[in-house]
Amino acid sequence: MGSTTMVALLTLALLVLGSCGAKVQEEDPQFWRSQARRTLQSVLDRKLNTNVAKNILFFLGDGMGITTFTAARILKGQLQNQTGEETVMTMDTFPNVGLAKTYSVDFQIPDSAATATAYLCGVKTNLNTIGVNAAGRNGICKTQKGNEVTSILKWAKDAGKSVGIVTTTRVQHATPAATYAHSVSRKWYSDADVPESAKREGCTDIASQLIKNTDIDVIIGGGRKYMTPRGTKDPEYPRDFLSRGKRKDGRNLIKEWQILKTGKVARYVWNKSDFDAVDPETTDYLMALFEPGDLRFEEDRNPSMDPSIIETTEKAIRILQKNPKGFFLLVEGGRIDQAHHDGRAYMALHETVAFDNAIAKGLELTREEETLTIVMADHSHPLTFNGFPFRGQSILGKSPLWATDFLPYTTLMYGNGPGYKVVNGKRPDLRNVTTKGKDYVQLSAAPLESTTHSGEDVAVLARGPMAHLLQGIHEQSYVAHAMAYAACVGDDLRHCQEQPMPELDTSLSSAQ
Ligand SMILES: [Zn+2]
Repeated sequence: MGSTTMVALLTLALLVLGSCGAKVQEEDPQFWRSQARRTLQSVLDRKLNTNVAKNILFFLGDGMGITTFTAARILKGQLQNQTGEETVMTMDTFPNVGLAKTYSVDFQIPDSAATATAYLCGVKTNLNTIGVNAAGRNGICKTQKGNEVTSILKWAKDAGKSVGIVTTTRVQHATPAATYAHSVSRKWYSDADVPESAKREGCTDIASQLIKNTDIDVIIGGGRKYMTPRGTKDPEYPRDFLSRGKRKDGRNLIKEWQILKTGKVARYVWNKSDFDAVDPETTDYLMALFEPGDLRFEEDRNPSMDPSIIETTEKAIRILQKNPKGFFLLVEGGRIDQAHHDGRAYMALHETVAFDNAIAKGLELTREEETLTIVMADHSHPLTFNGFPFRGQSILGKSPLWATDFLPYTTLMYGNGPGYKVVNGKRPDLRNVTTKGKDYVQLSAAPLESTTHSGEDVAVLARGPMAHLLQGIHEQSYVAHAMAYAACVGDDLRHCQEQPMPELDTSLSSAQ
């Protein structure tokens, strides 16, 4: 079909159907002019915040590329009965925006281990490696020693701040692991995953490093099975063999952690009711592991057994913010990535909406003048948003115009992944297929069991003290250094030498 024909068809279709999505007010040019004027004024009124950041609230959307970002915004609006495109997510309100280049030292397109080492430890490295520099080789233990790099979480702890990790994956997964572990393999979750030769050379598993390396005040996510001796029945799924403890060394790291915290108020919980009973005012340490492995997708979550990422974010902040020196908290929306790997855009977008709601909770509980809040992704996914859908059309729907094979296609598709399908020499006929369900797998151009990552830059959003340092296009490893400078932790302390920490004025309640 020629582009002229297509435009004519589109125009005709818009004439017939156009009124269903568009809003009357948008036909008035004054609507756009006054909206722009309000935006302009708010940008003009913005003041540079050069305070020393007391707190760092770092939100990491795993696999949350810009397409995911846009599509989740539309979904969020549509869940509130809006057309969606005009919706303002919490993430949309961050005044400072930059891009991060995500490649790793060895690959053009990275994984979550190499990227987490970059933005948390400030050093780019190789695929699959955590908390080691690029002289460390994937899976080769003897290249680990001497090549360890530490993270912003440790720098913040060393500066007297409280620190925490909140994730929707297992707490030993690549992203959270890079805050506390050094491992040439991201897969060494428990000692049962570490090859005997690597053990002999002195390498240890990630779970054991969780309780050993840095004294972490709040640990929330999944991953119970890596903490207990092999065969230990899971409290929630006692009959499920796969959920049982994995450790060959017989250690119970949960018990060891409790003993290590003797004399402090340290709570271990694994279900929602015990979690709800944790009083942040009187709790020094919290370890909450809600599943044997990763948590469930938000849309599959049992709200009586597991809290949402909004609830876990709130609990973590309330515990950490008791420290007068402030805190560092990593909150990971970790299953956006996993849903994309399955080619399930529905799940990925719902995970992203929940993540956005957790960010809103974070902003509500902190004050902009003392808290540097950053939102970013580690890498993108090959999700594309295409076609000419009408305004307000379901983000999980089909293009109103069919392709040249006379078949419809969804406006969200994947470059590769499990959605590749050819039926009788043609793409599958979606005319009678519901594409809006949570199990629907969008079409992909090349067959793969699991969608890969993709390599375009990711967005970095920032607000609070020194948030303007994140403007521009930078290497992903720069982010750790910018955070550390803003908070005056780590090696470079110029910022607090130039500018002393402002006296905390609790009367400033209009901070948000
Ligand atoms: Zn991934």
